[in-house]
Amino acid sequence: MGVPLRQQIAVGSYLIKQKLKGVKKYPLVLMLEPLFRCNLACAGCGKIAHSEENLDRRLSYEECMQAVDECGAPMVSIPGGEPLIHKEMPQIVAGIVARKKYVYLCTNALLLKKKINDYTPSPYLTISVHLDGLKERHDASVCQDGVFDRAVEAIKLALNKGFRVTVNCTLFQGETPDDVAEFLDYAMELGVEGATVAPGFSYEHAPQQDVFIKSQDTKNLFRGIFKIGKKRKWRLNHSALYLDFLAGNQDYKCTPWGNPTRNIFGWQKPCYLLSDEGYVNSFQELLDDTPWEKYGTANNPKCAQCMAHCGYEATAVEDTLQHPWKALVASIRGPRTTGKMVAEPIPRWAVGKKSGAKKLSDIPVTEIK
Ligand code: SF4
Ligand code: SF4
Repeated sequence: MGVPLRQQIAVGSYLIKQKLKGVKKYPLVLMLEPLFRCNLACAGCGKIAHSEENLDRRLSYEECMQAVDECGAPMVSIPGGEPLIHKEMPQIVAGIVARKKYVYLCTNALLLKKKINDYTPSPYLTISVHLDGLKERHDASVCQDGVFDRAVEAIKLALNKGFRVTVNCTLFQGETPDDVAEFLDYAMELGVEGATVAPGFSYEHAPQQDVFIKSQDTKNLFRGIFKIGKKRKWRLNHSALYLDFLAGNQDYKCTPWGNPTRNIFGWQKPCYLLSDEGYVNSFQELLDDTPWEKYGTANNPKCAQCMAHCGYEATAVEDTLQHPWKALVASIRGPRTTGKMVAEPIPRWAVGKKSGAKKLSDIPVTEIK
């Protein structure tokens, strides 16, 4: 696993405290989105399709600190938009680090060279660079030539300056296990601490809709990747059981309260990925007022293909706490890449629809949305 022991211990202690207090729904990673403005326009982006007025809005330093304190999660991820555009971002990051929370500053890295001296290396700060593959793949994914080279240059600079650096890679249609394996080999050679690899979520508001992978294909893709990975030493920033879930071996229900989202509109119901379900003013209201039972692959067509870490990583972590031996075996053995996959959930929302489908992969995409 590509996470330092110190951080694993801090997060583990937090989890044990939640258990001892009997907390059923606890946050693991706060998704803090202080702006939606970006300097790129990627094909699969579900975050930038806002009005100019909303793209100009920002969460202030004070609002960000209030969200961090209110939520209490031990880790904070700052996606966007592009966080480095935010003028108060160095203060925001310093404020989170001062609270001894582990912060992941997610960036496409285009501004990193210019802004890097505004930040100080710390065990609490990780710069997470968006890279969706090697040069050709990444530049196609972000719809602009030359971005891969600039991102790699910025990664090398950040590593030289002593920052913790990871890469975050989203997988889209047309990806092959060999391509992803080659990319992960390259990322490890660059010397990054680790990589997150997630299937792209089929955002309703993304500019292109034909780029997303259906969940069954995602599982096959990950099995192919992990088969190759058995002989490699990739540092993946995911729990062993989440990786096993991606390979189709765990029957998980999403627990989106594990990754609550605060952005310019408020606390987003139910998760980082669904933007039309409404907002509330406080984290407590989010926990209390969200109809959680309405969401999840079996319960809601918008969730049908979701295998995203913001929904399932917290589920996998909870499973690790409940079944430590199972997690240990998965971690030693790696994800299972052969044999039967767990059955797909029966989509309750599709019952009575014209396809008469009994499982997700039988439902035409046109019926899903
Ligand atoms: S870099 Fe991130 S936020 Fe910006 S357009 Fe691409 S996916 Fe969206
Ligand atoms: S399955 Fe869960 S995490 Fe995924 S979109 Fe639905 S509510 Fe969000």
